[in-house]
Amino acid sequence: MSETIFSKIIKREIPADIIYEDEFCLAFNDINPQAPVHFLVIPKKSIATINDIEEQDRELVGHLYIAAAKIAKEKGFADDGYRVVMNCNESAGQTVFHIHLHVLAGKPLGWPPYTDKLKV
Ligand code: 5GP
Repeated sequence: MSETIFSKIIKREIPADIIYEDEFCLAFNDINPQAPVHFLVIPKKSIATINDIEEQDRELVGHLYIAAAKIAKEKGFADDGYRVVMNCNESAGQTVFHIHLHVLAGKPLGWPPYTDKLKV
């Protein structure tokens, strides 16, 4: 599959504010934060969209959530609350085609997570 900006971050070809790393995933602060806390958790394996997740990725995808919760606990906002979201394709606003969890926290988060402007 094609190279994305996130594969370059994994390979340290471009810089990122990395906050967590293990064998399977990487987490770094979003360059354009939408909340006081906004970081991304990405698998080291390149998977373009949710539609491309295969049965063999079952554990890997679960691992992303476990990593998100681990970071939330370490950073002290787990009990207060946070949102984890993954966009899929254009209508959901996906811009980087390497799956990633958005983790948002640090303020009350509205629901639903879109404005009328973006509604389809
Ligand atoms: P998407 O819109 O695909 O769900 O989310 C992509 C996210 O990646 C956006 O929130 C965007 O701000 C973030 N992003 C895009 N390029 C970079 C980058 O080079 N570095 C970092 N840290 N975040 C990025």
